[in-house]
Amino acid sequence: MMFKRLIPLTGLAVLLAGCSPDSADEGKLQVVTTYSILEDMTRVVGGEHVDVHSMVKVGKNPHEYDPSPTDVRKMADADVVFYNGLNLEAGGSWFNKLRSSTNKDGKDAPVYALSKGVEPKYLTAARKEQETDPHAWLDLSNGIQYVENVKAGLIKEDPANKADYEKNASAYIKELKTLDTKSKERFAAIPEAKRHLLTSEGAFKYFSDAYDFQADYIWEINSDNQGTPDQVRRIVDLIKQRDIPVLFVETSVDRRSMETVSRETGVPIGGTLYTDSLGAKGKDGSTYLTMMEANFDTIEQQLTR
Ligand SMILES: [Zn+2]
Repeated sequence: MMFKRLIPLTGLAVLLAGCSPDSADEGKLQVVTTYSILEDMTRVVGGEHVDVHSMVKVGKNPHEYDPSPTDVRKMADADVVFYNGLNLEAGGSWFNKLRSSTNKDGKDAPVYALSKGVEPKYLTAARKEQETDPHAWLDLSNGIQYVENVKAGLIKEDPANKADYEKNASAYIKELKTLDTKSKERFAAIPEAKRHLLTSEGAFKYFSDAYDFQADYIWEINSDNQGTPDQVRRIVDLIKQRDIPVLFVETSVDRRSMETVSRETGVPIGGTLYTDSLGAKGKDGSTYLTMMEANFDTIEQQLTR
């Protein structure tokens, strides 16, 4: 009590403001992203000017999600919102519902689809052919398009820091291009017959086209039924017909289906890949750049053994 009384009123106000969790964010652009990969891209481009909140946490599935009360508040207060588009957040339409309940669905709302400008690929399952496959970021040249879109969105909403956003984005794009070129060179060592990626979710359409692989999966997209007996039987039969040396599993799915496939075929699970989420902080793959790098490393190691 003595201590408090000695502080003049203005000093106390400053002290209290210093304790409030929001005061550190003052002046920063408040950005909300739907999942961790977009969060990281935004942090890199936005640097010190942005405060970013990702709704879907690391290791979780962004196709289906229940926003928390914090997400709803952050979304309502956001200066900028970045989402993937291409059908990713539409699994349970969770994102559209959130947009309308937070008044962020108007045509002038500061909400940007980072896949804008990407050439879409479509699902192949019967009656799904009109639906786009969302996993465009797994091709680095699309990732670069996402970064361009982050930059454009930040500049539109915060033109005062345009020069910094441009500088950060161009340094980042340079790194992504270098990794893309290096990986294509390294993959040249993988024999044609081994260029087969077998994963739980069919998330590798864009990746396979960019880096010249064939891709197969247990289920096509995470918003569908995952690992039904029919899906498992189909892929077990396919593996038995072909010479597939190794299976992969993703960090953001339940691995039990792939374990069943491995047991029934005798083909080992050779590695874990990042698709819909970054890795945990402090691990490989905790940024978009390093998750792509970790995927390239895992695939190369497993397919050149
Ligand atoms: Zn997915």
